[in-house]
Amino acid sequence: LGRLYGPLAGMSNVQVDVMTALVSFERVLEVLDLEPTVAERPGATDLRTAVADRGASLELDAVTFRYPGADEVSLASLESVAALRADPTEDTLRDVSFTVPAGAMVALVGPSGAGKTTVSQLVSRMYDPTSGAVRLAGQDLRDVTAASLRATVGVVSQEAHLFHDTVAANLRFVRPEASDADLERVLRQARIWDLVARLPEGLETVVGDRGYRLSGGERQRLAIARLLLRAPDVVVLDEATAHLDSESEAAVQAALDEALAGRTSVVIAHRLSTVRAADSIVVLEAGRVVERGTHPELLARGGLYAELYRTQFADPQ
Ligand code: ATP
Repeated sequence: LGRLYGPLAGMSNVQVDVMTALVSFERVLEVLDLEPTVAERPGATDLRTAVADRGASLELDAVTFRYPGADEVSLASLESVAALRADPTEDTLRDVSFTVPAGAMVALVGPSGAGKTTVSQLVSRMYDPTSGAVRLAGQDLRDVTAASLRATVGVVSQEAHLFHDTVAANLRFVRPEASDADLERVLRQARIWDLVARLPEGLETVVGDRGYRLSGGERQRLAIARLLLRAPDVVVLDEATAHLDSESEAAVQAALDEALAGRTSVVIAHRLSTVRAADSIVVLEAGRVVERGTHPELLARGGLYAELYRTQFADPQ
């Protein structure tokens, strides 16, 4: 949407109210990290009931997925130039199955283009599988309400999106009734409270490009605080590859540990510490699951994971 908004912003005769509407829409999409590419079906049920009864287990069952072709490109997928280039006859995922028990962490690894981000997009239901199913607490995501899915699944992407507003507003966006004490609690958990407390106007300090400029690591921690305020049962995390200094890195890691503790999680892993901590590692190659197991098991196999370990994860940490 940013790409659509950019050119529009350059047009001098655009009505102010249209622009305001666009900006609000953009904020909603950014903050919730969900895009309206799929519709809610009539009679959809509340996922939270199933999660309360059965726990937030996640299952991908024989998922095959092909991105929509250029003739059926939706508004959201227009964001990706790849959507217009991709060969619509190719499956991006083929027969992918794995389960994540409630409270467990699965790390997704694989070469670039293997389909890791695509799996995370299906888990947050930005798209539906072409065949097969994604189930949470035993419920097919196609059968649950969008609001209950949004409350259950939280996404942390590499780029932490903040809007030009106060720290408090950036957080309360996901939970308007949160008290200042609630905000302080999640900011402490996300290892960013000390900084916020030192800002000229504390929680009321405006952040963003035209306000107080936070570093990459600080933005990530604020995004993690927002996730903690939402308290979703399932977290989908794309671990940042961007280089952070080691102090920032350690603070972000501590914040993430807090965010993942006790939650069902799917992490696109880039760090050795993450793959080691994962209950299970799923190795994708060209859209298929080629290996699955724990770090020591997969190293002992001497297959693709062992190779990735040598090339991507071998940094001492
Ligand atoms: P990386 O590690 O480089 O981020 P990845 O494993 O996350 O890669 P994906 O981003 O899931 O891989 O991409 C898998 C394949 O799907 C790639 O061939 C990619 O070009 C294609 N693809 C990704 N997004 C879209 C889209 N919106 N439309 C069409 N094809 C896409």
